[in-house]
Amino acid sequence: MPAVVYRGANDLRVETLPVPKIGARELLVKVAVCGVCPTDIKKIHYGTVPPPRVFGHETAGTIVRVGSEVRKFKVGERVALHHHIPCLKCHACRHGTFAQCEQYKRTGITAGFEPAGGGYAEYVRVMPFVFPGVVKIPNRNTFLEGAMLEPVNTVLKAVKRLRLLRGDIVLVAGQGPVGLMFTRLLALHGANVIASDLLDSRLKFAREFGAKWLCNPQAEKDSTNKLQSLPDLVDRVTRGRGIDAAVIAVPSDDVVRETQALLRGGGQILLFSHTRRGEQTQLDLATICVDEKDLIGSYSADILLQKDVARLVFSRRLDVRRLITHQFPLAQTAAAIELASHPTPQSLKIVVGQLLRAQ
Ligand SMILES: [Zn+2]
Ligand SMILES: [Zn+2]
Repeated sequence: MPAVVYRGANDLRVETLPVPKIGARELLVKVAVCGVCPTDIKKIHYGTVPPPRVFGHETAGTIVRVGSEVRKFKVGERVALHHHIPCLKCHACRHGTFAQCEQYKRTGITAGFEPAGGGYAEYVRVMPFVFPGVVKIPNRNTFLEGAMLEPVNTVLKAVKRLRLLRGDIVLVAGQGPVGLMFTRLLALHGANVIASDLLDSRLKFAREFGAKWLCNPQAEKDSTNKLQSLPDLVDRVTRGRGIDAAVIAVPSDDVVRETQALLRGGGQILLFSHTRRGEQTQLDLATICVDEKDLIGSYSADILLQKDVARLVFSRRLDVRRLITHQFPLAQTAAAIELASHPTPQSLKIVVGQLLRAQ
């Protein structure tokens, strides 16, 4: 079968691999689509994990073979996959910090080599410990929607970390695919969202996804006087109180510091895109101690939210179809990753797969 194999930093090759053999308790899934995710891009660009691997973990497809002991699934079912599942028993899990669980760090889906998701291949083998994350896709919904359950889950998990009252004012900095999911989910939670981004095309989308106010921090500098700066906007809409919370969906330390100054005492800043280790930044720690401005993070998904996530996506209250702007055939995965890492004003979520239609 064709597969896109990571052979080292920035080295992806289309190779022919054997179709994975499954055990009695496993599934074989024919991949329909797989989303391109920033965490995979980071691993590929910086070569942070040893090759060879087949990446891709936002996967949806059709079950084509089931092991002899599998009762829960049938051949022909269309499913969305989830590659990390916590044990729910260890110390980390008892604290609800699933992403820190040792089992969670194991990947239960592979197209060959060290398991790494495998979605950039024609077939994947699904191991039994990730079955709790396998969701059947309703007939009316597309594979594309199924493939978005994983990223939507990570966003819903992060939203749940915020202490919000209805009507609270929340800044979402960065309106890429993930930022837009935040904007929509926060709006559905009853928050009033300020959306900021350097691309006006993305702000237009943010409006459609429920943002109440828009701000392009770059535009304010070019303009003579008409556009208002983010601090002015925050000052006006919060009547000088400051925003209740902010989600930082761009990997910029400056944005974190600037946002901290806009936050009310007792508010929260949630980091979602600061996944690269080793960078240092300066903060006045009294803003955390005295002003009680919490700085928190969120990483990866929460399997206990999977039912809510499926309901949000499949009911189209969060209509992820509108986020997907580009589909590449599997053989062009490298081009898909290139576009995802250098987004254009027109590009949002990018997927690869066998199908070029919205099925
Ligand atoms: Zn992802
Ligand atoms: Zn655990």
